[in-house]
Amino acid sequence: MALIVQKYGGTSMGSPERIRSVAKRVARYRAQGHDIVVVVSAMSGETNRLIALAREIQAQPDPRELDVVISTGEQITIGLLAMALKEIGVDARSYTGTQVKILTDTAHTKARIQHIDETAMRADLAAGRVVVVAGFQGVDADGNITTLGRGGSDTTGVALAAALKADECQIYTDVDGVYTTDPRVVPEARRLKTVTFEEMLEMASLGSKVLQIRSVEFAGKYKVKLRVLSSFQEEGDGTLITFEEDEAMEKAIISGIAFNRDEARINVIGVPDKPGIAYQILGPVADANVDVDVIIQNVGQDGHTDFSFTVPRGDYQRALGILESVQSHIGAKSISGNDKICKVSVVGVGMRSHVGIASTMFRTLAEEGINIQMISTSEIKISVVLDEKYLELAVRVLHKAFGLDQEI
Ligand code: ASP
Ligand code: MG
Repeated sequence: MALIVQKYGGTSMGSPERIRSVAKRVARYRAQGHDIVVVVSAMSGETNRLIALAREIQAQPDPRELDVVISTGEQITIGLLAMALKEIGVDARSYTGTQVKILTDTAHTKARIQHIDETAMRADLAAGRVVVVAGFQGVDADGNITTLGRGGSDTTGVALAAALKADECQIYTDVDGVYTTDPRVVPEARRLKTVTFEEMLEMASLGSKVLQIRSVEFAGKYKVKLRVLSSFQEEGDGTLITFEEDEAMEKAIISGIAFNRDEARINVIGVPDKPGIAYQILGPVADANVDVDVIIQNVGQDGHTDFSFTVPRGDYQRALGILESVQSHIGAKSISGNDKICKVSVVGVGMRSHVGIASTMFRTLAEEGINIQMISTSEIKISVVLDEKYLELAVRVLHKAFGLDQEI
């Protein structure tokens, strides 16, 4: 008998039939004697609908009131799921974030959880009830409703599992686990039986949208055993996110190919090569809350150097504008950019102990005539920036080159 936190996403809660099928799964786990806490998302599309509704009233919705509106989606699904459980004879009780007391800071629409009161949940579990908690929402110290950012129900699930010291946190979604890459790009992509926490963090931040990145960070910090599973399949072990490289587990050096289309590159050409120049270029960009990713500065020549970096595509025009406004101040010859780029990364903890990953990657891309514009590396990842039109091709050939289509 274990304490399990199960989180169900929007598609899993998308209709009365789907909610009934979630209730049946919860009942099966109950019947095995486990204590179950369920965290749910709003029905799929609901949060988008609520945001659009708010924007019809106020173009820039007041953050406090926006949280009041968009937190309602999950209030509906907790009540419906508790009813569905009762209908099949499983005692259950629903809780909003405020009712549990999921205490957060006051940063509306992107609040962070600070503390979770377990008292009420423990009492229900002891009384044999299933506890159903609204994901994505909390309450600040003054009693204001807050939300945790898009996809935040994952974080609620992991945070509850950490607070309750659950044996496992199961994230049920519409895919049956974490894949070596997106199966829509590479049909041969395989489900990983395990992936390390660090790899998952890289893959989540590189645009593989299975889990909200903050939930992965949370799981790492509190050592929560996390598993991603499909709510559409009766069976299946999904993907277990592990903390150490377990020798007995899959031996692949590379675990996956992550990619992100949502990128743009900015070039600042011919700036004086002197102390403080990187700060003068990137300072104003950071002040405008634009995330800078891959950064390259050339070796200086004749007292001048070139500087390139990537930003999210949605921030491209704004970042370009900022740099143009400081161009004469920093003494740059020209400012240019390209928003038709992408980033492709190979990820794997095995890189730490194997050489030649980078050369395999570069050779594979060269053989296809794909030009690499920028390169960045970490201990467990090599990323390249490419012309957007090569994205699919690059992901496919790298997937094959690293043998990811082969069952291990
Ligand atoms: N309903 C929220 C969203 O759509 C939270 C979640 O589903 O995780 O972002
Ligand atoms: Mg989600």
